[in-house]
Amino acid sequence: SIYIYGFGDGKADGDASKKDLLGGKGANLAEMAKLGLPVPAGFTISTECCTDYFKSGKQLPQSLYAEIDTAMAKIERSMKMKFGDPDNPLLVSCRSGARSSMPGMMETVLNVGLCSTTIPGLIKNTGNEWFVYDAYRRLIMMYSDVVMEKAEGIEPRDGMGIRIHLEIIMNELKNDLNYETDTDISALEMKTLCERFKRKIKETLGSEFPDNPRDQLMGSIGAVFKSWNGKRALSYRRIEHIPDDWGTAVNVQSMVFGNMGDKSATGVAFSRDPATGDNNFYGEWLPNAQGEDVVAGIRTPNPLNNTTKSSHNRHLPSLEEAMPGIYQELAQIRTTLEHHYSDMQDIEFTIQQGTLYMLQCRVGKRTGTAALNMAMDMFDEGIIDEITMVTRLNPKQLDEMLHPVVDPEAEKKTTPLAEGLPAGPGGAIGQIVFTSEDAVRWARTGKKVLLVRDETNPEDIEGMRAAVGILTARGGMTSHAALVARGWGKCCIVGAAAFKINPEQRKLVIGSKVFNEGDVLTLNGTRGLVYEGELMMKKATENSRFKAFMNVADRYRRLKVRTNADTPEDAARALEFGAEGIGLFRTEHMFYGADSARPLFLLRKMILSKSIDERRRALDELFPFVKQEIQATLAVMDEKPVTLRLLDPPLHEFVPQSLENQEELSRELCIDIDEIKKRSLDLTESNPMMGHRGVRLGITYPEISAMQIRAIFEASAELIIQGKNPLPEIMVPVTCNEKELLFVKNISEKVYQETLEKYKITAIPHQFGTMIEIPRAALKADRMAEHAEFFSFGTNDLTQMTFGFSRDDIGSFMNDYIDNAILDADPFETLDQDAVGRLIEISVALGQKTRPDIKLGICGEHGGDPASVEFCHRAGLTYVSCSPYRVPIARLAAAQAAI
Ligand code: PEP
Ligand code: MG
Repeated sequence: SIYIYGFGDGKADGDASKKDLLGGKGANLAEMAKLGLPVPAGFTISTECCTDYFKSGKQLPQSLYAEIDTAMAKIERSMKMKFGDPDNPLLVSCRSGARSSMPGMMETVLNVGLCSTTIPGLIKNTGNEWFVYDAYRRLIMMYSDVVMEKAEGIEPRDGMGIRIHLEIIMNELKNDLNYETDTDISALEMKTLCERFKRKIKETLGSEFPDNPRDQLMGSIGAVFKSWNGKRALSYRRIEHIPDDWGTAVNVQSMVFGNMGDKSATGVAFSRDPATGDNNFYGEWLPNAQGEDVVAGIRTPNPLNNTTKSSHNRHLPSLEEAMPGIYQELAQIRTTLEHHYSDMQDIEFTIQQGTLYMLQCRVGKRTGTAALNMAMDMFDEGIIDEITMVTRLNPKQLDEMLHPVVDPEAEKKTTPLAEGLPAGPGGAIGQIVFTSEDAVRWARTGKKVLLVRDETNPEDIEGMRAAVGILTARGGMTSHAALVARGWGKCCIVGAAAFKINPEQRKLVIGSKVFNEGDVLTLNGTRGLVYEGELMMKKATENSRFKAFMNVADRYRRLKVRTNADTPEDAARALEFGAEGIGLFRTEHMFYGADSARPLFLLRKMILSKSIDERRRALDELFPFVKQEIQATLAVMDEKPVTLRLLDPPLHEFVPQSLENQEELSRELCIDIDEIKKRSLDLTESNPMMGHRGVRLGITYPEISAMQIRAIFEASAELIIQGKNPLPEIMVPVTCNEKELLFVKNISEKVYQETLEKYKITAIPHQFGTMIEIPRAALKADRMAEHAEFFSFGTNDLTQMTFGFSRDDIGSFMNDYIDNAILDADPFETLDQDAVGRLIEISVALGQKTRPDIKLGICGEHGGDPASVEFCHRAGLTYVSCSPYRVPIARLAAAQAAI
């Protein structure tokens, strides 16, 4: 098969539509070349080659060699230089590029082709000996680390990485000579440094640095492929759910140099501000530097233009000031690209001696707020249509807009400790830790941590994930940490230059203050401010644009969105977020929490009652409390349906365990403490989740169901008399047989009639239905529908019972299932459409056969997961129900499902 796709000189074999084959970078390089933008000539080796490479035990396919020859010859013609030629040598870069961007997770080798025979020619042609040796020492550093040590697996003899060895040599040289920066090193010193590097490599790795351009090229290509399965790339893929079999492409491209002197530079830019979405050309650049310097976060970069200067980099000249002509050219390209792709672009460029080159463009990562603002602006500007606008936001990105920020009032009263760049939005309070491992470990014990690092290193990916906030002393807005944090919507501040971090001693020094591991800081990631201790947080303010956006999205959706709520407060919050009803009110939740000591006691008394009289007395005492709680929520949800589920207590959670509780019960029930202990023991089950719960309790003790149903009807009757319009829906949990339903329905009808008589009213609008959460109920849905006016899929239990995975115990093995790719995702997080979904589809069809107008909802955790919402739309459900904070997410997911 053909593995190579060339680009350059206004032509390309591929284009932006071939991301699967060429990776994002390769596809967009081809597209930019076709647009006539200044792209240095090169070629892409396809992702197919990567998968073939791994299939054949890490061997490059035989046919690739000839293809590389042909492709190199084309580049040589375009650049009028020759790879390995002593007089006019061409250098190339080798970069990874997967289907979806994995910033910094794979390897890159630059300056490939420099060796003893090509160095003199390049010096002659550039007239710049310093530059050539600087390029050579970069090649040696990258190649020995990426290709020799990591890819070819040569172990350093003393266990320390070769990169560190070389960095030490270079730092020693600078220290000995009192040099501040790399540019202070003379050409001759740089040359000697390269020789020392090569000797060190021989000494530490036991093999020679290759002095042949062709060997360097093939080594680099293999190393990039291999880095697809490197540790960093693997963990990033797990987190982002990127399949292992995609593979990466390799882009081989002629080198252009940003480090050829003062008229050379390198930079990264966004066509709009990725943090706020403002329509400003936003970016960073470094004079006399190579591309990796900006993203590696080693130097604090200069601002691109005057509008995006911040207090952090105001003292540095912008590109607009330093090279106005080039800046104008770049600004023009920004417009061309944004109109061509109809989306915000993230671009990389290099300026070589006054000439601009484009090295990359791609759709830029952005915060949720920026995504929303850009989508609405681009719609107003006529760049995108309304449907595109609605699909531009990943529903999960809404999350960050609904979560708390640091209270501006509290901020006014205190001065920040330090300022950095606002790389990831929102507020975060946490205890500081200094390594990725500590972040993961502390987070596992339930602590909220801030990961504090000197610079942004992609190897910290898991720690960054575990932390509630990320803080670095160096780096810019486009550094890896910033990109990754922004993608996750995580609070992140980079380049807090006042920080002196000592990871060994686990100390952070800011001015005269010293902070130790575990000390608490507060971050305002939206403004880049760091505070000592814990500041007040505040609900993200009502965002009028957010509301307008959601209103547009709502016009497209068919699914209704309800919430799972069991208090008036949660119900009110969900209403603010746009809930159209309650899909699950879990009655047992009213017995949790500090205010419910007495009701909980009464519930225990009821559970431990032996005789019907004892139980009746306990139920009578409970009744006013249950009725009052239900009424409060029905009142808040006036005119909107509220699904009230009959008690589904995991009994083991309600059986009194402590001696104190048992003694209190023994006094109140006037029975011996030993009898209480015995009754408690009798109630202990080996499989409580499949035990005496849900409807089963109501079959054994019908008076429990009767009490709750009476509470629902009386609460509603009183509201009706007050002029309100409650819409209760009585839901029976954990059913598996239509006769269970009939049993409860008979009770319900009797209590209904009694309530009408008691309050002298003619009707209480209501419905009677069931959860479908046991596979048997799903398969017998036609019979269930004989008595149920609605079904609500309890996909937590349905998943548990379909897989036979205990929902409370999966923590111990789910990761092994994911790591071994047995499951793509945790089925309790995102619905297993193959089997659990199939059961839902079967129930929908059977249910509608018996009762064509049956109402269908879902109230398991999946109701707020975008992929599951999309499934529910396709399956023809009436509504999804999820926790209040996920209501907007479900609304947007439902709209996108309908588009
Ligand atoms: C379910 O099983 O999906 C459900 C919503 O009920 P619970 O989580 O209370 O068992
Ligand atoms: Mg359940």
